[in-house]
Amino acid sequence: MRPETLAIHVGHEPDAATGSIVPPIYQTSTYVQDGIGQDRGFVYSRTGNPSRSLLEKSLAAVEGAKYGLCFASGMSAINNILLLLESGSHVICPASVYGGTFRILEFVYKRFGIEADFVDVADIAAVERAIRANTRMLWLESPTNPLLGLCDIEALSALARSKGLTTVVDNTFATAVLQRPLELGADIVIHSTTKYIGDHLDVLGGACLTNDDGLYERLRFLQNAVGAVQGPFDCWLLARGVKTLSLRVKQQSANAEKVARFLEEHPKVRRVHYPGLPSHPQHQLARKQMKGFGAMVSFEVNGDASSAQKLVAHTKLFALGESLGGVRSLVCIPAKQTHASMTPEARERAGISDTLVRLSVGLEHPDDLIEDLVAALDTV
Ligand SMILES: *Cc1c(COP(=O)(O)O)cnc(C)c1O
Repeated sequence: MRPETLAIHVGHEPDAATGSIVPPIYQTSTYVQDGIGQDRGFVYSRTGNPSRSLLEKSLAAVEGAKYGLCFASGMSAINNILLLLESGSHVICPASVYGGTFRILEFVYKRFGIEADFVDVADIAAVERAIRANTRMLWLESPTNPLLGLCDIEALSALARSKGLTTVVDNTFATAVLQRPLELGADIVIHSTTKYIGDHLDVLGGACLTNDDGLYERLRFLQNAVGAVQGPFDCWLLARGVKTLSLRVKQQSANAEKVARFLEEHPKVRRVHYPGLPSHPQHQLARKQMKGFGAMVSFEVNGDASSAQKLVAHTKLFALGESLGGVRSLVCIPAKQTHASMTPEARERAGISDTLVRLSVGLEHPDDLIEDLVAALDTV
């Protein structure tokens, strides 16, 4: 079956006891046992909960993975994966990796003797040069935040495999609807399910997906040992979100493409970053690797920092805020918001200027979104 069908059926079997077509929320911490050693598959909700199992099965099916594990947030899923590493090991990460991943590696894992190098993963030779004797993991993200840069997941996974490294892909921006890293050779996929999978802007979550039995056993052990699991109600909300994921992502991407084309023609816009535009330097790779181009668009507005600030002060449909992927459109200035913790030099190296504006395009009518941007750009 295709992912759209799997998303609605796998895990979502009607409740056996009552016939309730939507399985109940198992809001419980523990389970009555019929005798010592005679549990009914669940013992304690940190170890396992039926609402979580449902979501884990559903997300695995949608990603085409054998196994899924769900966590309280994207960061706790990332942490669970990094805990596979031994002290003294080395990780290669994109220079433009998600800020939270940079922070946990640089300010938490470094203290435990795990080093990370942040390299331009679009340059395969640079990745190869960065591999050391103690390198164990290649961390990838594509498209990246906020400049929507890509990397060749298939080529990089093959390189990593030949060197014995585990490849992890943060697939939050594309989702399984647009990009399938496990099929391209990656070992583990992670999602901040807070974003597209949930995204009615009302829940936080994270997930890891894999086909590898050994990795799954270790990740599952860590999930229980560390305990950053997702609560039953949040699992229920996310399982509900999965059913419409494909529809939302496709429509949001179509809306984003219209918005990106509009921006590219606007005289007050200097440059648009969107993998679906032929002007994107990696447009060909996007066409090969992705089934659509996503709903994130960033652009540089003419003028200076105050021009970008004027613009975001005047949008009405695009709410000023962090996060992304929601049904409701959002706008932010990465240099002042999502990437404010980077030093100005690091931001400049990464190409994140003060005039860069990031849009998360939602499900509103694209013409309304464009009219909102027309009015806001008029004030610049
Ligand atoms: C938001 C995000 C995360 C972190 O997820 P949380 O749910 O906020 O903890 C990780 N990676 C990417 C690409 C993200 O956008």
